[in-house]
Amino acid sequence: PRTEGPLTGPDGKAYVIDQLISAKSIAARVEALAHEISDHFEGTEKLVVVGLLRGSFVFIADIAREIALPMEIDFMEASSYGSSMESSREVRILKDLRGEIEGRDVLVVEDIVDTGFTLHHVLHMLRARKPRRLEVCALLDKPSRREAEVDVRFTGFTIPDEFVVGYGIDYAQRNRNLSYIGKVRFV
Ligand code: 5GP
Ligand code: MG
Ligand code: MG
Repeated sequence: PRTEGPLTGPDGKAYVIDQLISAKSIAARVEALAHEISDHFEGTEKLVVVGLLRGSFVFIADIAREIALPMEIDFMEASSYGSSMESSREVRILKDLRGEIEGRDVLVVEDIVDTGFTLHHVLHMLRARKPRRLEVCALLDKPSRREAEVDVRFTGFTIPDEFVVGYGIDYAQRNRNLSYIGKVRFV
């Protein structure tokens, strides 16, 4: 949908969402990324595609269907944000993978890399399990906000320091169902 209707933040402040990236642009970029990923992992026995919940659920659903490789899909949930718009440096693992990744080719799919703390922590944890290859695909990257080093091999869009929602990404658990990516503007 274009919007969910009257939008009020957790603090009662009204806001609107300005479109930043259209559904059509996202679809085109996702297809191109999937080709890059298919080329990169060509010949793999079975790729393990790891979605970081909850923000990447729409992205992983779309990109997984465009990657032309045998794959398994698994999920992890890490939390650094509460319901606010500020990142906490503390990363908690709320849900771990179901499957083993030792000796496997692994692709971590993330919605946004912001300060980098979340991915840094998750990658450190996964690397200890000795995957054969471990790469990251992030739909959005805000490089101007980076504080922890992370190597993101596949990036959808580089964006400025704006608080974005849609295409799986929430503000206070709303707006995940928007088909486009927009930025939150208080009115
Ligand atoms: P980091 O640990 O890199 O600072 O934060 C990564 C996570 O914070 C992202 O995966 C995402 O869940 C959340 N995040 C970062 N920037 C934004 C944003 O602009 N909007 C929303 N809704 N979440 C964000
Ligand atoms: Mg995330
Ligand atoms: Mg969130």
